[in-house]
This record gives sequence, C-alpha cells and structure tokens, in this order.
Amino acid sequence: MALCMPLGCFELRPLFPLIRFLVAITAIALAPLVTVGAVAESLWQSGVFPIVQFEGYSSHFGRRLGISGNEELHTGLDIAAPLGSPVLSWWSGEVVEIIDDSICGLGVVIVSGDYEHIYCHLQQQFLHRGQKVRGGQPIGRVGVTGRTSGPHLHWGIRYRGRWLDPGLILREMVKS
Ligand SMILES: [Zn+2]
Repeated sequence: MALCMPLGCFELRPLFPLIRFLVAITAIALAPLVTVGAVAESLWQSGVFPIVQFEGYSSHFGRRLGISGNEELHTGLDIAAPLGSPVLSWWSGEVVEIIDDSICGLGVVIVSGDYEHIYCHLQQQFLHRGQKVRGGQPIGRVGVTGRTSGPHLHWGIRYRGRWLDPGLILREMVKS
C-alpha cells in the first residue's frame, strides 16, 4: 500500500506500527476525559443541598481574617439557617466520625467514595459511627455549638484529602 502526494509516493506499510501506536496513545489519553465528563455530569444530579431553610451564605470558602487577626483558611461554606432547622446529607455514604469539640462543635463526617463531607455546629445529630446514610437523609439540626457566633451550618467537602470549595460543587449540581 502506498500514499501518493504531489512530491512522490510513500510506502505506508513500514509506518503501520507507528500509526497503531499513535492511535492507541490517543485512545488512552482521551478515554479518562470522556469517562470523567460523562460520569461527573450525571453524578452531580444525586447531590442534595444540605440546608432546608436557607437564609444565606454567611462565609465563603477560602482565605479570610480569623478571630486572632491572622489570615486563615476557611475550609468550608457557612450557610445560615434557623436554629433547630434540618440538616441533610449531601450524598449517600457512611458515617466515619462524630465530632464534639470546641471548634466544630457537634459535627458529623460522612465518606462517599473519594469524597468526605463534614457538617459542623449542629444542635443535635441523629447518627452513629458506621451508619449508612442516603443523600437527602436528615442527619441533624442547625445549632450554635463550637466556634460560631450564630446558627449556621459549616459544610466542608474533601476530595482525596484536599479541601474543595462547596460553592463550586453547588454550581456543578445546578448545571446538571
Ligand atoms: Zn465555617
């Protein structure tokens, strides 16, 4: 087999291994992109907004001035809601930790695959360690426990150990 162009003819056969190699490399490079895109788009539809009685966002994710006057990383999104109103699980998963400390206050950590979601400042929580939860399941009530000045939910999401901006996740959920 030969390919003829204005400058002459090329014998294609010696090039076959190279062509096969290039096709394989392209397929391997594109496959994850196609899969992640398709999975991600339908996946986000399963996400549930964790607050039922939304009053507004009281603090965004990222760097901010802390109480001490130093810049600190705020690792979640603060959502204001009435005291005692329901908090829902963002995703189905398993409860891996119940928190009760001076910062998060009463809180819950749920793992869903590579994602870990944390809910802080609860007045009350309904779960125990090892419990399976579904997305949208009530997991507690909005409170003022831990380091907080008013009733709100601190909602954090970690992907493979790295904190993500829940605002970006919400945008993906709205888009899907
Ligand atoms: Zn917060």
